[in-house]
Amino acid sequence: MSQRDQLDVKAPVMEVFASFQGEGLFAGSPQVFLRLAGCPLRCVWCDTPGSWELTPAATARVRAGAETRSEPAWVSAEEAKRWIDEVDPTGRMAVSVTGGEPLLWAEFLLALRPLLKRRRVHLETAGAHPLSLRRVLDACDHVSADLKLPLDMEAPTSVGFTEEESSPSTDEEWQRARRALLESIRDRDACGKIVVAGGHPADVYEALFADVSELAPELQLFLQPATPVGGVAGPTREELSGLTAAATSRGLRVRVLGQLHRAWRLP
Ligand code: SF4
Repeated sequence: MSQRDQLDVKAPVMEVFASFQGEGLFAGSPQVFLRLAGCPLRCVWCDTPGSWELTPAATARVRAGAETRSEPAWVSAEEAKRWIDEVDPTGRMAVSVTGGEPLLWAEFLLALRPLLKRRRVHLETAGAHPLSLRRVLDACDHVSADLKLPLDMEAPTSVGFTEEESSPSTDEEWQRARRALLESIRDRDACGKIVVAGGHPADVYEALFADVSELAPELQLFLQPATPVGGVAGPTREELSGLTAAATSRGLRVRVLGQLHRAWRLP
């Protein structure tokens, strides 16, 4: 694909805004958030189900200063870069590319990276599509990847646009994806996140801890209490303590961190 063709690749933007990172290793950092639409996965505790579907007539919210406006969602990397610069005219804030599942739009990410010049690019991914991740890894300065518990996942669907890689659905497929993910990010600027819902027996997390321990023992892991949505409960203090002890006993670097932006009532 020529450089010009790459710049013409479009992706559906849901919103662009500046806020403070509420999760993971960069919690508290001011960042620009570029949220791309479309997700084939179905986490039972998903807090952004509005990002799942793609429609040709979708619109993007661009929040620059005190003004919020709507624009047609499907834009090129050049247009997205213009919106990012409007939201943060200093050109210095890191850009957190989130979703939905941004790995659906690997070509778009590759086209966007050089346009952002000195801004850092942080990728927030469900970690379910290791081949797509490998394609964009060098375009990312930081990767925040979920380690999904298969029992928290309903059957994936098809977004129907650019998916080059099918989504995992069985325990075995999830394990394969997770292990490939960990091998890709183990020597990178990266962190792993496990969303913890209430009511699961502690041993269902053992396979995740075992894979991190074997493949990426230095990875900073975050246990993120699920925000209660749609009948999903958050974990009790005892559940979190038990999981932290189980991870620590394997020598893992683990912290508990909730969604701070929710506590701060920020987007
Ligand atoms: S991967 Fe993200 S957007 Fe997709 S269902 Fe899970 S939490 Fe929601």
